[in-house]
Amino acid sequence: MVKSSKAQKKSNGNNGGGKPAAGDAPPLTAARVSSSALPAAAGVSSARQPVVPKRHDMWEQSLRQLDATAKSINLEPSVHEVLRHCKRTLEVAVPVKMDNGTLQVFQGYRVHHNQFRGPAKGGLRYHHEVSMDEVKALAMLMTWKCALMNIPYGGAKGGVVVDPRKLSIGELERLTRRFTSEIMIIIGPDKDIPAPDMGTDGQVMAWIYDTYNMTTGHAVPQIVTGKPVSLGGSLGRVEATGRGVSYITAAVAKEKGLDLKGLRVAIQGAGNVGSNAAKALHEMGARVVALSDVGGAIYSESGIDPFKLFSQVGPKDSIVGFPGTKSISNDELLALDADILIPAALGGVLTEKNAGEVKAKIVVEAANGPTTPEADEILRGKGVTVVPDILANAGGVTVSYFEWVQGIQYYFWELDEINTRLHKIMTKAFANLWALSKRERIPLRDAAMRIAVSRVAEANKMLGLFP
Ligand code: GLU
Repeated sequence: MVKSSKAQKKSNGNNGGGKPAAGDAPPLTAARVSSSALPAAAGVSSARQPVVPKRHDMWEQSLRQLDATAKSINLEPSVHEVLRHCKRTLEVAVPVKMDNGTLQVFQGYRVHHNQFRGPAKGGLRYHHEVSMDEVKALAMLMTWKCALMNIPYGGAKGGVVVDPRKLSIGELERLTRRFTSEIMIIIGPDKDIPAPDMGTDGQVMAWIYDTYNMTTGHAVPQIVTGKPVSLGGSLGRVEATGRGVSYITAAVAKEKGLDLKGLRVAIQGAGNVGSNAAKALHEMGARVVALSDVGGAIYSESGIDPFKLFSQVGPKDSIVGFPGTKSISNDELLALDADILIPAALGGVLTEKNAGEVKAKIVVEAANGPTTPEADEILRGKGVTVVPDILANAGGVTVSYFEWVQGIQYYFWELDEINTRLHKIMTKAFANLWALSKRERIPLRDAAMRIAVSRVAEANKMLGLFP
């Protein structure tokens, strides 16, 4: 795990990098309480409540999306009503002793949206703009994503309101261990299995794993996924989301009669997902013409070699200024005259303000929720094919599933077996979705939602209602 601000942009777990907004850090939202005030412990209270700026109303958007799907598939009203709610939400205070001796209280969340199809599954996000609404929306998205991939999980998500770049490695570890202990009442190897997301990585997962093991008194490898391979993590998990993005990009290009070789791809974000998608697409023969990080974007008409780029630019440095590339802004990247645009950073980057400028004919959503409903509408009107996040970035949770299965069996697979299985699951999900979209003449996102919600509803029907 890295702690420098520059380093963070390229190592922040599943959705890292990209949007400058992530670097425009508002002040940390947690209250600072001097440790000298601690003797009056009973009176120690947060000096002020965390103020979390609303990036975009993701929860409302998720509900609207579910409502529209419910209508289109004639979803039984009682099931619809249940799915409009998160099964369980937990809000925790996470007191952390800082390096300077003060105590700081961070706000944390863990949410289970649904568990009809299996244990709740989803990442843990460290970001200064995390809010309960965002975590709920992302948990719901996980329910749909796992159902769409047909893997046996419900949806969960967690988050801590923190800019991890501002913490020392020790502070980050203490925060993670205390947060884990606070959410232990709802996580478990067959209850809720956390994983990396924006701002967290394998090291954070290792601390979660160790805290859980220390508390239970024995090793429980299936409690968390995205662990380092040395601790029972899966081969290919780090690259899985980006690799999955490349499989889906290739599949959609093929369906549209395009040869991936030479196709011009612009990727917003150079974090885990963006960098690995760039490498996989480059290997497949696509031309990566632009990439970005928190420092800005780079462009080269003849193509950027991502292997060269990421081996030559240190993890603490910005990709901006890489020899042979031209510096452009993030907004210019989104509006580039490329064949395929891959937003691989934060949510809500394609909005009603910039969607009209998009020139790519295919948008592959590698980030979670990068397109607002207004932008979606505009892109639809322009005839742009938008491949939804719950399909495009599902490679991460799919290999998390493999990691969990391997952990349960204490039997580990070879990388080629993992990639073959990942390819099979992703292309099968894509084929189902593509066929439905063609048959019903509906956008891919609507098709994905119909398949996912129908599967969850079917499980609900079989389960019935307790009591
Ligand atoms: N955070 C990732 C996602 O949004 C992965 C979740 C997981 O592996 O459980 O899909």
